[in-house]
Amino acid sequence: MEKFNLKAKRPLIISGPCSAETEEQTLETCKRLAATGKIDVLRAGIWKPRTKPGSFEGVGIKGLAWLAKAREITGLPIAVEVATSKHVENALEFDVDILWIGARTTVNPFSVQDIADALRGTDKTILIKNPMHPDIDLWAGAVARLTNVGIDINNIGLIHRGFSHFGNSKFRNSPMWHLVVEMRNRFPDMPMICDPSHICGCSELLHEVSQQAADLRFDGLILESHICPSEALSDAAQQIVPEEMGELISSINWRADSVDSADYLKELDNNRQQIDQIDSELFYLLNQRMQVADKIGALKRDNNVAILQGGRWNNIVDKVVGSKKLNLSEPFIRTILEAIHLESISRQNEIMNK
Ligand code: PEP
Ligand code: MN
Repeated sequence: MEKFNLKAKRPLIISGPCSAETEEQTLETCKRLAATGKIDVLRAGIWKPRTKPGSFEGVGIKGLAWLAKAREITGLPIAVEVATSKHVENALEFDVDILWIGARTTVNPFSVQDIADALRGTDKTILIKNPMHPDIDLWAGAVARLTNVGIDINNIGLIHRGFSHFGNSKFRNSPMWHLVVEMRNRFPDMPMICDPSHICGCSELLHEVSQQAADLRFDGLILESHICPSEALSDAAQQIVPEEMGELISSINWRADSVDSADYLKELDNNRQQIDQIDSELFYLLNQRMQVADKIGALKRDNNVAILQGGRWNNIVDKVVGSKKLNLSEPFIRTILEAIHLESISRQNEIMNK
C-alpha cells in the first residue's frame, strides 16, 4: 500500500470499532464501513488503556493481523492506538498506516518520549490525542517530542477528544472548544481531527458535535462504529452500526471556507465594521467603569472599609440576569460579570494597599 498522506483529503474520515474484539467483528465492521463509501481510514483499539483494571483490555497483537486483513479486503489504510514502545514495534511490523497516541498516554511525558524514541526514522502518520485534562502545553509538548526525534511535521496530526471535567455535563468529555482554537493557533498547518465519540459518550449527541467540528473548520472526524453496539466490550453507549455511520457522515455539512460573491463579501465587511465599532465602545465603557471602581477603592481606603460589601455584588448580578431586555444566556452574563468583578477587586486591592 502506498504511503498514507495525511493532508491529501479534507475532511478526513476515520471510523472503526473502539476495540477489535474478534476477527469476525473486526472484518464485518470494516467491510460494512467501507461499503458506505464515506470512510477514508479504518480504526480499532488493540491495546485498551482502561480506567479500571479488569475491564476488557484489548486482544493484543492478533488484532493487528485482523486489521491488516481488513485493509487487504477494503483497500483502506488502518490506524491503531499505541501506548508503549513495544506497541510501536508491533504496529510497524504490521505496516500500520497511522499510529495514534491516546489521551491517557499524552498526559505522561515519559510514555510519549518512549514512543517517540521507538518511532525514530519512521515516515508513518502519527496522530496525537489531547491529554485527559485541559493542558495545551502538554499536548504541544508531545508534538515537540516527536519532531525532536526527526518525525516530519507533515506526518503529525492532532485529535481533539474532549477533556475530563469535574461536575455534571451533558458530555463524557467536555469539548472546551476554545482550547482547541488555541492549539490550532500554535500549529496552524497541522490537521485537527475531532473525536465526537469520546466527547459525547453516547450516540445521541454525535451529530451535534460532528457538525460543530465541521463549523469550526476541523480537518476531519474519527468516530467509533460497532456491528452490535449494545454488545461492545468497550464504549458501548457511543458506538453506532456502520450503516448509521454512513448516514451520519453524509448528514454533516462541511461549509466552504469562503465564497467569492461580491454581495456576500460586502455584507460581511459591513457587519464586521459594526462589530469593530461596538467592541471599541464596549472597552471604552469598561475602562470608564474601572475608573469609577478605582474611585470607590480610594473612598473605601480613606474610610478604612473592606473592599467586599455584603450583598452588593449579588444585587448587581441579579439585576442584569433578571433583565428582560437582554437576549443573552445566563452563563454568558455571569462569565462577563465575574471577569469584570475580578478586575475591579484586583484594582481596588492595589489602591487600598498603596
Ligand atoms: C479510543 O480511541 O478508543 C480511546 C481509548 O480514546 P481516548 O484515548 O481518547 O480515551
Ligand atoms: Mn473508545
